[in-house]
Amino acid sequence: MTTSRNAETLALHAGPRMDPTTGAVAVPIYQTTAYQFRDTEHAANLFALKELGNTYSRIMNPTCDALEQKMAALEGGVAALAVSSGQAATAMAVQNICGAGDNIVVSTDIYGGTWNLFANTFRTLGIEARFVDPANPEAFRKATDKRTRAYYAESLPNPKLAMFPIAEVARIGRELGVPLIVDNTASPVICQPFDHGAAIIVHSTTKYIGGHGTAIGGMIIDGGNFDWEKHAGRFPMLNQPDPSYHGAVWTEAVKPLGPIAYLLKARATLQRDLGMTMSAFSAFQFIQGMETLALRMREHSRNAADVAEYLARHESVIRVIHPGHHTDAELKRRTAAYLKGGMGGLVGFEMKGGMEAGKRFIDSLKMFYHVANIGDVRSLAIHPASTTHSQLSEAEQLATGVTPGYIRLSVGIEHISDIIADLDQALASATVTRAKAA
Ligand code: PLP
Repeated sequence: MTTSRNAETLALHAGPRMDPTTGAVAVPIYQTTAYQFRDTEHAANLFALKELGNTYSRIMNPTCDALEQKMAALEGGVAALAVSSGQAATAMAVQNICGAGDNIVVSTDIYGGTWNLFANTFRTLGIEARFVDPANPEAFRKATDKRTRAYYAESLPNPKLAMFPIAEVARIGRELGVPLIVDNTASPVICQPFDHGAAIIVHSTTKYIGGHGTAIGGMIIDGGNFDWEKHAGRFPMLNQPDPSYHGAVWTEAVKPLGPIAYLLKARATLQRDLGMTMSAFSAFQFIQGMETLALRMREHSRNAADVAEYLARHESVIRVIHPGHHTDAELKRRTAAYLKGGMGGLVGFEMKGGMEAGKRFIDSLKMFYHVANIGDVRSLAIHPASTTHSQLSEAEQLATGVTPGYIRLSVGIEHISDIIADLDQALASATVTRAKAA
């Protein structure tokens, strides 16, 4: 165990330091479905949650547990649950406290997949998502009523890359008894949402946590800092007897274990029932990724900042979107308040020549991969208007920050001169072809 709060150290030393039976230093892949009980009393205690331990790998697994401990430590939370994808993490994080007839208040600046989950799939389940503009934190208060179970936002949402006002919205939530759930996928290490009042963090570990584009996964982390009992009327699922677990009251059941009512319920009921489980092999890959996470975030951030500078000076570029390039004073203040030690690997830019120039630029790239992903060690690019956002109307695209010539880059950790060289030749090529076409 380590008492450090530094991401570099935590990623290596938080959680189990070795395999208890073999002494293996690297976390083994526990490729097992079930676990032998010592005797019937042991089995009964585990199922009654009188003792914590392994029963069945849909619900827990030692490799996943090691990753969960590291992620909880990295974010400064008390417990975590590994799940099968970022989408699964978001769905479970909300469903854990929210059912038919309830609502959540959601920032409009979120990933399109999350928007769909909330606006369409959750609607079919009777959960209403009330979307509000994060530029005005008070909009969260206005949209809140007694059936509001959570606020939901992304810390550093793309494509706008406008830092979410975490402390401002968390403060309103705490006044009204509403927890803030933050998706910190784009800014692990550099942003610490629990320090600013968030109650729950979710991640798509698919992105920077894994870092190598090899596995899909998600994580829910409990900050242990929200008083669910104080707001018992708002959270019946945590404070009233749960018929699915022989009448357990989660806030009572966890008293000997610490402030983990939210997380334990998610594991014991939702993970049991929905089975959105991370595989041990994926957990192993995410642990490998975590070991270099802090180092990679520094490098991604440094390269992305250099790319933003380069693009800002380029004649074919109208506008650069990067946390360090906002001109709005409030956004500058938030960026400085919430991002420490780097601004992440994402950069957007707007090309002269709109949709056609954007497509030509993407087709001219030689080193950047053209993929719908972020957070890989490799540099990635996409033209959202013709791909990820093509199902939206132009007005909807504009509302999400996607203009026809907008390009999103997820800057990797290649040498900066090679990254700039590829961008340079692609911009030149897109511009020359445009001149020829004209
Ligand atoms: N959150 C953010 C910010 C994302 O960018 C994504 C995926 O792109 C997700 C969540 C969903 O993650 P996953 O693809 O692992 O389901």
